[in-house]
Amino acid sequence: MNKIPFVTKEQIAEIAKTYPTPFHIYDEKGIRENARRMKQAFSWNPGFREYFAVKATPNPFILKVLQEEGCGVDCSSLTELMMSDACGFLGTDIMFSSNVTPEEDFRLAKKLGAYINLDDFTHIDFLEKVAGLPETICCRYNPGGKFQIANKIMDNPGDAKYGFTKEQIIEGFRILKEKGVKEFGLHAFLASNTTNNEYYPELARILFELAVELKEKTGVHIKFVNLSGGVGIAYRPEETPSDIMVIGQGVKKAFEEVLVPAGMGDVSIFTELGRFMLAPYGMLITKAVHEKHTYKEYIGVDACAANLMRPAMYGAYHHITVLGKENAPCDHKYDVTGGLCENNDKFAIDRMLPKIDIGDYLAIHDAGAHGFAMGYNYNGKLRSAELLLREDGSVQLIRRAETPADYFATFDFSGLFDKK
Ligand SMILES: *Cc1c(COP(=O)(O)O)cnc(C)c1O
Repeated sequence: MNKIPFVTKEQIAEIAKTYPTPFHIYDEKGIRENARRMKQAFSWNPGFREYFAVKATPNPFILKVLQEEGCGVDCSSLTELMMSDACGFLGTDIMFSSNVTPEEDFRLAKKLGAYINLDDFTHIDFLEKVAGLPETICCRYNPGGKFQIANKIMDNPGDAKYGFTKEQIIEGFRILKEKGVKEFGLHAFLASNTTNNEYYPELARILFELAVELKEKTGVHIKFVNLSGGVGIAYRPEETPSDIMVIGQGVKKAFEEVLVPAGMGDVSIFTELGRFMLAPYGMLITKAVHEKHTYKEYIGVDACAANLMRPAMYGAYHHITVLGKENAPCDHKYDVTGGLCENNDKFAIDRMLPKIDIGDYLAIHDAGAHGFAMGYNYNGKLRSAELLLREDGSVQLIRRAETPADYFATFDFSGLFDKK
């Protein structure tokens, strides 16, 4: 099994004449087809909607493509709300799932008419005080302990900072109902980047059972259950990817077994996927600019961890294709490195690749989510451009590369230069 880049060496060589490497490039066709599969997988639920997690790929052009496919957006900060508003997402097209939330963020979310997802019991009073309570409200649940699927520990909710405890959510719904809230949502996020097709169905069952209990104990009407993010992708070519059709059917089964018998078959299913919606449809394109032969063999590239942080931060695997050498034997062992003054600035360690020559283009796969978005300016490195490969084969600049002027924009040099 191999990963096939959605661009060829010839295409990249042509694109690089206008937009020099490094850059992130996204595949509009892939994004749309995947969004349609997602919708199809949950078409059994009339109210279903995917709220794309903006933090994964916060680019208005990407948000527009997803909007055309019927998605809403999931925001967690003021600027994400502003971007979504500017893109024409209206009212309940927006989910606001934040934590440690500043007053002004809640005010804007309320003003826009977004669904507000409260992370904590104390946020009930806080939101009421700073913005007033909306008619519909969602609360984030944290079951504590360990989250297991078939005896395998998936994650440790008991150590996670997010969500209400069981007792808090029951009490919280009672209080919110007394204060006049009419409709309710339930949310939880219990495991990240999991390709296990049982994750969403297990999570759904936990939330559905809680929804039934909440309805019985507090008499509220549950309008939606938000399964949040966490559906993963196969970063390694040998991994089995998530099967969204199987996942959709698994959630349906839990829905029919738990909610329907409780007379709650009108509940809408929402999701807030980021990685699953975008990661495979974006690549970081970089050029080999140096080679170094010391105790190991190094290839130095013109991108660095500031353009894609996941390998440096989590030791995450990102597959690499040397463009134009797709069928060459992988008979060279390299560390592929960026130029930060940090030894963890390596896109690959001891990776078997075809022989790389200076000037070769490397496609770093699955960088479409949590890629550009996690970029930073350490070592004075500048953020790259983002390009969109349109369905007709044309290339659109959807964010220009930073220039030194951008880097210096937040300084005031006036006093400094006066002294000279
Ligand atoms: C990060 C996040 C998401 C998206 O997660 P993915 O793993 O990219 O699917 C969704 N909801 C919330 C609240 C998040 O914090």
